[in-house]
Amino acid sequence: MAIRNIREIGDKVLTKVSREVKEVDSKTSILIDDMIDTLYDAEGVGLAAPQVGVLKRIVVIDVSEDANDPIILINPEILEFDGSQVGNEGCLSVPGKVGTVERPNYVKVKAYDRDMKEFILEGRELLARALCHEIDHLNGILYVEKAKDGIRDVYELEEDEE
Ligand code: ZN
Repeated sequence: MAIRNIREIGDKVLTKVSREVKEVDSKTSILIDDMIDTLYDAEGVGLAAPQVGVLKRIVVIDVSEDANDPIILINPEILEFDGSQVGNEGCLSVPGKVGTVERPNYVKVKAYDRDMKEFILEGRELLARALCHEIDHLNGILYVEKAKDGIRDVYELEEDEE
């Protein structure tokens, strides 16, 4: 297991569409473990494979409070969505910045686990937001393209909240 280098905005790999995963071979398995390590090291909520420079449709998400419950999603696909939420969003590939993004408040996602077993995941609020954000990465889309009033420095946000 290893921590991988997180690609940042401006890197072309972040604008490309990732390829479907056909099987989880040992190389893919190592990638998944490394993505989880990298997510926790960076204290993020989610990470998509293109963020570590690999154009495969793999996402890891952990919205639990003590960050010990990673969800691995291979070839995730949004089946249904409902409602809306407007809130601040950040990205490990856009360090130090936040933007206001509207997302569905509920999504139902189909994906495969690391044994390539299909499962359904329903997410609300933060999990719904994370699922949409990470699946966007697999399609080469960064949240900054969806941010209503552009992106701001994180410290400006902290000042607003005081
Ligand atoms: Zn991101």
